[in-house]
This record gives sequence, structure tokens and C-alpha cells, in this order.
Amino acid sequence: MLLHYGKLNINDRKGDCLYKAPRGTSDILPQEQTYWKYVEEKAAFLCQLYGYQPLTTPILEDAQLFARTVAGGTDIVDKEMYTFEDRSGQKLALRAEGTAPVCRAYLEHGLFNLPQPVKLYYIGPAFRYERPQAGRYRQHHQFGYEALGEADPALDVEIIEMAQRFLLSLGFSEFSIQLNSIGCKLCQPKYREALRQHYSNYTTYLCPDCKVRLLRNPLRLLDCKKISCQKIAETAPKITDYLCPECQAHFQSVQQYLEALVIPFQLNYRLVRGLDYYTRTVFEIEPHEEGAQSALGGGGRYDNLIEQLGGKHTPAVGFAAGIERLILNLKKQKIKVSVLPKPIAFIAYLGEEAKIEAIKLAFELHQAGIAVIKATGDKSLKGQLRQANSLCTNYAIIIGEKEVKNHTAVLRDMITNKQKTIPLAEVISSLKQN
Ligand code: AMP
Repeated sequence: MLLHYGKLNINDRKGDCLYKAPRGTSDILPQEQTYWKYVEEKAAFLCQLYGYQPLTTPILEDAQLFARTVAGGTDIVDKEMYTFEDRSGQKLALRAEGTAPVCRAYLEHGLFNLPQPVKLYYIGPAFRYERPQAGRYRQHHQFGYEALGEADPALDVEIIEMAQRFLLSLGFSEFSIQLNSIGCKLCQPKYREALRQHYSNYTTYLCPDCKVRLLRNPLRLLDCKKISCQKIAETAPKITDYLCPECQAHFQSVQQYLEALVIPFQLNYRLVRGLDYYTRTVFEIEPHEEGAQSALGGGGRYDNLIEQLGGKHTPAVGFAAGIERLILNLKKQKIKVSVLPKPIAFIAYLGEEAKIEAIKLAFELHQAGIAVIKATGDKSLKGQLRQANSLCTNYAIIIGEKEVKNHTAVLRDMITNKQKTIPLAEVISSLKQN
């Protein structure tokens, strides 16, 4: 691997450290941050555009928050949660996903007292003990937004519309929106039973996980990626044949509003999502060239979740996207991202007196809001300019003995290598002009 840091290439000469980042987690190095800031800025802009306000929840939560809502029978809770007891014996979990914590905060801080729906968004890490592979990590980051306190299908459509606008704003053009409804408390039990009956005919062909799903959580059977299980899913009953009239009407309205906005979508009767709290609308965004494991993001309605946490019945709907997956796809599709602003100048010095002038100059430039990096230590001028070059600054400002005496500085253009001497007092205005 070749890392690019400014204009320097850092070869694969790894340092001798006793420790490594834990498997499935990674450091986000400076050269990667361009992508991260790009995605985060587009996310924040989108949320501001639609009136969603930021919310930050702790990385630690009561383990029961996820066990109750995401629920047993899902991989996240059964196999992937990072849980531990703290020193007081309380069972905690690292944040496994973003929605349940938002709902907890909504109840804990009485946000239900505000006019509804309350619209919130978050960006932060989530932890799942998965088998690490490309696009699947043990620590990943999600951008998600939630609208709480409203059942109107127009809100489901706003959430989907935002997901589409977000991906378009990032520069993606090739993706599909997969849509389904998984009904409510009333209609889901009948459908679960129909699924159970269908799959019972094929138990010998089911993978070990699906044998358990058949007993504990038949909806999850549709989600299995094993080919033998997918074959059985092809002939499984469709949820849409089991929806109650209210869920049917809701799903019709979602489709009607999406059509009115000319937002393309594909009905996918096997889409159930990996978390158990969903009701009615579920959707996922897939990049075109990839398979089913590569969702860029997904979401849906979760009308019972807040009640499960002890609140009143509160319908809600939301979406979350995986930032690492978005960045992988940005790179794969060679989408250009805007580069982060960098310091404009590097201040070099020669000798102790010049060092004091350099420190003072850097102080004044920072005071004037001009981004510069000052040299430290006792490198040669050549070494200092090499550093300026690696940092890709446009200018180097050089102060030596002569410049100290004359109250001047040398302003060197790092691209053309041309330089001129200017009065120290004019450095700020010169840099401001550029
Ligand atoms: P979920 O909370 O499962 O609905 O996930 C929301 C989004 O987060 C997914 O669509 C993925 O883009 C991303 N995601 C989920 N799990 C992982 C993971 N283990 N590694 C990287 N991204 C993930």
C-alpha cells in the first residue's frame, strides 16, 4: 500500500508498534479525511435543507436498549453486539445501530412534548462483531436521520426522497431504491405463519442459521444470502398478499407519492431488513453493480419502537447509510471530491533570532485568520522547504539573519520557485491577496 501524504509518498514501511487497531476497525488517516469531510458536509447540508437537527448520543448504551428493540433472532443481537459489564456491574453495549438511541433520547428528554414530527440526524460509529471483509467492519460509521411522531406516508416518502437527494449530491447516479412493506402487528403474524408453513416443507435444504430462524424469526428467512435458502425464498408467499387494509393503503400512498415525485423504485417483496423493529415501509439503496450484501443504506418505518421503550404509541420513520460503504463506492466510481482547505504558507527560519520573528509572525497570521504552519526544531533550510513541499503549501515564508535586521521576509512561491523579499509588515496583506 502506498500512502500519499501531501506530495510525499510514505511507503509500506510499517512502524514497530506493540499494538494494532483491533481487527475490523481502522484509523482514518489524514489523506482519507477528504472523503469523510465531503460525505459529512453533504449530510449536514441535506439535513439543514429538510429541517433535521443534529443529535449526538453516547457510544455506550444499556445493552437492553438494543436487545429489546433490534431484538433476539437478529444477527445483530444474537451474534454481533459488543456487550460488557462495567465496574458497577451494569450491562452496557457499544452502540450497535443509531435508531434505538435516538428514540431513547426522544423519550428521556421529553421531545414528544414538541410539535410532531421531531426531525433529527446523527453521524457516528456503530459496532458489530462481524467477519471483517470489504465494506463490512466491526466498527463502521453511520449517517442517519429520523422523523418521530407522525404516521403520514408522505413522511416515508420524504425520508426516501432525502436518501435519493443525498446520494445524487455525493455524485452517484447509478443506484436503485428497493421498496417493500412488512405490515404491522395485526398483519405480520399471519404472514409469519404462512412463511413458516412454506419453509417447513424444505427444512432439509435450509442452512443451520435458517433452521433457527424458522423457529424464532421466520421473516429473517427471506434475508438469507445462501443460494439454497434464496431458492426457497423465490416461491415463498408475498407479504403484500397479507397486508391489512390500513397497511395496504399506507403502502399504496407511499408508491403514489414516490411516483408523483418521479423517484424510481423497485418493489422487492423479499426485503425485510436486518433489524426487527420495522413496520410497514422498508427500503434499501443498492449500488447497481453490486450484490445484495452491499446496501449503501436503508431504512423504514418503526411505529412500535418508542412504545417498546416505555413511551406512548409514536409512529416514526428513518434512514441510515454506512459512511465507509459510501466512500468505497465514491472511490470505485472515481467520483471527484472537493479537497479540504490546507494552510497557505510554511514559515521557515534560520537562526535563533529569526526563530523568534517566525513564531511572532505565525502568531499574527493565525490572529488574522490565515492558515500557516511554522517550522520547529533545527532543520536546515533545505529540510524546511522539503517539509513545506510535502505539506503542499502555496508559499514558504523564509526569515534569516538578513531579514531580521531589515524587518523583511522572503516570500517564495512553492509552485514556480520564484521568490521576492517583502517588508514583514506586508506579509499578511500579500497572503490575503492570494
Ligand atoms: P443497518 O443499521 O443494518 O440498517 O445499516 C445501515 C447501513 O450501515 C447499511 O446499509 C450499510 O451501508 C452500513 N453497515 C451496516 N453494517 C455495516 C458494517 N458491518 N460495516 C460497514 N458498513 C455497515
